[in-house]
Amino acid sequence: MALLGIEWPNIVELLELSDVSLLWHPSLSNMSPGEYQRLVQSLLDDETGLDFLCLEGAVIRGPGGTGQYDTHLGRPKKDLISGLAQRAQYVLAVGTCASYGGIGADGEVEATGLQFHKAAKGGFLGPEFRSKSGLPVINLPGCPCHPEALAGVIAALSSGWRPPLSPNQTPLQWYGLLVHQGCIRNEYHEYRVEENDFGQRGCLFFHMGCRGPLTHGPCNKLLWNGRSSKTSVGVPCFGCTQPEFPQPHPFFHTRNIAGVPLELPEGVDRAHYLAYKGMAAAAAPERLMKRKTRV
Ligand code: SF4
Repeated sequence: MALLGIEWPNIVELLELSDVSLLWHPSLSNMSPGEYQRLVQSLLDDETGLDFLCLEGAVIRGPGGTGQYDTHLGRPKKDLISGLAQRAQYVLAVGTCASYGGIGADGEVEATGLQFHKAAKGGFLGPEFRSKSGLPVINLPGCPCHPEALAGVIAALSSGWRPPLSPNQTPLQWYGLLVHQGCIRNEYHEYRVEENDFGQRGCLFFHMGCRGPLTHGPCNKLLWNGRSSKTSVGVPCFGCTQPEFPQPHPFFHTRNIAGVPLELPEGVDRAHYLAYKGMAAAAAPERLMKRKTRV
């Protein structure tokens, strides 16, 4: 589904530029059931080459590890995924559920990610899994995955460039930045000019639960539809690219102790942060306090 959102290059251009043939896609392919079965079998038998296996959605193992909650072609889909992953040059986990298990990771369906279960390495394929190229699963988290990150990784790997990966196996080119870096509200954050409602101009970290300073992802670097992002329009980032997503506590609320956020920006020392933010709030310029965009 993330692939359908690619704008530039569009899907056809991306595949042509990358010299990739689309073998099957749930929305774009028009095969008869028989043709589809034969294609899958020839991939499993290694008669047809498989460069990219892109999985969107978690691997469902329930009930009791049988995978019968999610079947495909008359068998548990997890068995098909396992077989195809052994054949593929590259395995891409597209979205947070495929990467880390997502919303069903601790539930009855026994969902898990391809090579992670939440933040723990392992997942469905196990920590030692390597695709034919020698690379582990490449995680492209997000709910949904940003289409340009997916397009960029396919183009990069097709051209022979292997993007460096983070410890969470996300390509640093797209996931090396925090969502906070590049947010247009940074100056408000700096001076602790806070909002209590959606759609306003100030920072959303202190009351509204914004997780931008704790979330690695391309939002605010690669705008959605080339135009916008959540924080640009006054909606807090809720951390959808992080392994622990979705967190068990409410999204649009900052948990705090005596008005101080429980979770501070990544790597920040609490004592220093408190001292700095108190002084910064006192120094906030009038134009920010009045939410003026121009001096
Ligand atoms: S709204 Fe969120 S991402 Fe933007 S500056 Fe504030 S904390 Fe950072």
